[in-house]
Amino acid sequence: MNEAARREFFTRLRAADPHPRSELDYASPFELLVAVVLSAQSTDKGVNRCTARLYPVANTPAAIASLGVEGVTPFIASLGLYRNKAKALVGLAGILEREHGGEVPRTREALERLPGVGRKTANVVLNVAFGEPVIAVDTHTFRVANRTGLAPGRDVVEVERKLERTTPEEFLRNAHHWLILHGRYVCVARSPKCGECIVADLCEFKDKNLPGTKPKAAPKAKPGVRKPASPPPPPPRGRQPMAKTSRAGARRGRAR
Ligand code: SF4
Repeated sequence: MNEAARREFFTRLRAADPHPRSELDYASPFELLVAVVLSAQSTDKGVNRCTARLYPVANTPAAIASLGVEGVTPFIASLGLYRNKAKALVGLAGILEREHGGEVPRTREALERLPGVGRKTANVVLNVAFGEPVIAVDTHTFRVANRTGLAPGRDVVEVERKLERTTPEEFLRNAHHWLILHGRYVCVARSPKCGECIVADLCEFKDKNLPGTKPKAAPKAKPGVRKPASPPPPPPRGRQPMAKTSRAGARRGRAR
């Protein structure tokens, strides 16, 4: 996508939603951090239901740390991976208390050292809580960036870097909201709503789901998964046990 089309793309998304915001409920950087950690493989609505009960009881690092894993767990037990998430929350709350004076740090390095916090979570906190011009790439943003030609990339880091390099400065602050919401509600994975898409004429996706056309199945590749340049060679004849091991190794290699 060329520079003029990219600018027009974001201009239209901004016109449709001038003040986008996270669909997670929060009232402080710490509440946002907790909500984003809880949102892994869970819906924002499910997280909001949990934090609506948790935050009145504990919404600071000191309070979460003193609740402990057993105390936090009942509040988040409706979410997937809730045991790991409870451990992460109590762990990160303790680190914030001990090393950051109870505050959420403003650097990616410090954020990524917290349990349960990866690159995407760190970017969301930096952008949403602190206004940094970074773009968190989740599954929706990854799909939209690749389909439209906005910032094609084989993994989330490549897409993130391209988006941050090519997005006009005036849109950087809110770009990640617009792309997530567009992917969540319009450019959906299985059957994108191209007929009602406000950037359809700018989008470079070859299999648009327009009236009278039959879209191809959505690609199965996930963010962060790279395919090998060519398939592994066939197993040599007469050495079946070795060949099985080789194929399993190849599958493991693809899964990383
Ligand atoms: S035209 Fe279709 S594929 Fe392109 S951005 Fe819009 S919904 Fe997505």
